[in-house]
Amino acid sequence: MRKPIIAGNWKLNKTIDESISLVEDIKVKTMDLNREQMPTVVVCPVFTALKSVANILEHGKGIDLGAQDCYHVDSGAYTGEVSVPMLKDICVSYIIVGHSERRQYFGETDETVNQKAKAILSHGLIPIICCGESLEQREAGKTDEIVKTQVKADLKGLSNEEIAKSVIAYEPIWAIGTGKTCDSPEANRVIKLIRDTVAEVSTREAADKMRILYGGSVKASTIEEQMSMSDIDGALVGGASLEADSFVGIIKGTMLARTGK
Ligand code: PEP
Repeated sequence: MRKPIIAGNWKLNKTIDESISLVEDIKVKTMDLNREQMPTVVVCPVFTALKSVANILEHGKGIDLGAQDCYHVDSGAYTGEVSVPMLKDICVSYIIVGHSERRQYFGETDETVNQKAKAILSHGLIPIICCGESLEQREAGKTDEIVKTQVKADLKGLSNEEIAKSVIAYEPIWAIGTGKTCDSPEANRVIKLIRDTVAEVSTREAADKMRILYGGSVKASTIEEQMSMSDIDGALVGGASLEADSFVGIIKGTMLARTGK
């Protein structure tokens, strides 16, 4: 049974003090939840708040720390970049790569996503690899082709073991930050297609171990239905991760869908 993941992508939001206060609030509001039944919870603040948030989280005991991006080279003359060992040094364990906003505004490509995923795995961290189609691509009937192409390119050259440990987030671009969620059976269908594509480039066993999340306007009111689907293993959450009540509502909804409690 795959352990669900609920990851909060805070994007370009919150000062250090605001980040501390949000994570403290999340900690308090999840304190009484059964740790065995709780999904893996990851928060991904901006780079400048990572260390302060790390100091508050008890690493490995409930809430994990994630970064929103990284560079694939460990060190050198790459002004402005942050490397995987540097993130590992401050207890980051997950790194989002290939978010559609990075693809759209910062020139991220499947090739750079693949380089970053390799670097992340080589240092023992876990990549959350984002993929998904635009509205135009969906309307042109190209969703399956786009997603399959991205997944194959993003995972190129990874071992079966590395693939099994990696996380993919299926995020239809038209559902991100728009309030429009992809309906659950359709999200599940695309996620199943992603799992079959992963099996094609690795093994069925690796594909069945890999956790594949849905992302796109997830809220406390949508998560239970999403988590009742066969192949959705959790969520990458943007807007609703910026408030403790809504984020914890998503964590609780995940537990309810999986355990009935
Ligand atoms: C995201 O940024 O990954 C995301 C899914 O955002 P939102 O939940 O706000 O749609």
